Amino acid sequence: MNERALLHEADQRALAYFDGIPSRRVFPDSRAIAALEAFDQPLPSSGKAAIDVLRELDEIGSPATVASNGPRYFGFVIGATLPAAAAAERLVLAWDQCASSFDNSPAADRLEKVAGRWVCQALGLPADSAVGFGTSATACTLACLSAARRALLARLGWDFDGDGLMGAPELRVVLSETAHITVKKALRILGFGMNRLLYAKVDDRGRIDPEQLPTLDERTLLILQAGEVNTGEFDRFAELIPRARAAGAWVHVDGAFGLWARASSSAHLADGVEQADSWTTDGHKWLNTPYDSAMAICRDAEALATAMNSDAAYATASRDAQKNLTLEFSRRARGVAVWAALASLGRDGLCELIDRHIRQAGELANALRQGGFEVLNRVVLNQVLVRADSDAQTVAIRVAAQASGEVWFGPTLWQGRPAFRLSVSSWRTTDADIRILADLLLRLKAQQRL
Ligand SMILES: *Cc1c(COP(=O)(O)O)cnc(C)c1O
Repeated sequence: MNERALLHEADQRALAYFDGIPSRRVFPDSRAIAALEAFDQPLPSSGKAAIDVLRELDEIGSPATVASNGPRYFGFVIGATLPAAAAAERLVLAWDQCASSFDNSPAADRLEKVAGRWVCQALGLPADSAVGFGTSATACTLACLSAARRALLARLGWDFDGDGLMGAPELRVVLSETAHITVKKALRILGFGMNRLLYAKVDDRGRIDPEQLPTLDERTLLILQAGEVNTGEFDRFAELIPRARAAGAWVHVDGAFGLWARASSSAHLADGVEQADSWTTDGHKWLNTPYDSAMAICRDAEALATAMNSDAAYATASRDAQKNLTLEFSRRARGVAVWAALASLGRDGLCELIDRHIRQAGELANALRQGGFEVLNRVVLNQVLVRADSDAQTVAIRVAAQASGEVWFGPTLWQGRPAFRLSVSSWRTTDADIRILADLLLRLKAQQRL
């Protein structure tokens, strides 16, 4: 089989998979999972025909996928992929660009610059910020915090690039008690010991309590949240950020999903966030791009570009080349899907998407409350945090819902007790899907009466 016929076959199989999304179980059944054992072969000494590789992948792999690209996946604030972004991704695969700089791909370089500008416009962030397109909020937070540390130390007269951390002035990291685990991971990798972190107390909504904020000074890195992972709440940026900046601190905002509220009619939730020094957000969550899509955004473009610089003698590039803004040197043109998503939505479509999810989350919360569930959060965003009559019932309902194949969502702990977290973040989710979810949960609650 020639290459073209093979790629055509892959396209056909991809389309067949796509057609099957509406009827697919959201989480695969145990038979499909058991069948994955067929992949567990030793590395073959001689290869097989590519068409057979593709067939095996589809026949064994596809049935054991999770339908996160469908309408009733409510886990982890991740959404399906927008049609324009999925289509762009297919073309980008054919391009196979090493999108590290203009020299490697003029098309990717320009598209990612435009996408970066559009992201800043959509989120209302300073227009001349540097925007690095990385693999994840985790990786982008690491990039931003590296820039923050280097800049804070430089202001204290310390040459981080030359002398590293040995003997450097000690920095203080202040973060929320409810900071995302990946923020702590980034800090740990960077060498900020977990025992040295200074946690800011939060209120009952999961927002930092400004009254109880540890001291801020010119050695402080303050990390705030746009979209607390359980409640969807926002730290009080308008109050906290000016205070921190006046003290000489660097303010970073983890806005993996919540920052997109800035593009909606609920933008007021994140008032003042534009005053921070750096921000992280994901494309693969609320913007509904394919995975490996996140952005490191830094007000001081030079700070990010120097911290992440990788200009080699044979490969000098401009400061704003992507290889100088992210962890990767060779990298795929992952910003193109962001460009395609924003080009297809426009400002109005983006606003409508986010508004719809916020409305649907509110309606879901009402239906669950009426059905006797306890909704633990204010539901200002797309997160609904839920508990049943007892911890055992909460867990049993969640497990039964996952096993049903109708929907999927994950567990969480809220104030030390089990709950479940429903995230509405897929463009495919209709009002009917929300009703299916609510009805299923009410039915399970009646069945799981303990
Ligand atoms: C998902 C999430 C992250 C991590 O994002 P990845 O892209 O999965 O690395 C960080 N912070 C918050 C609030 C998140 O929801």
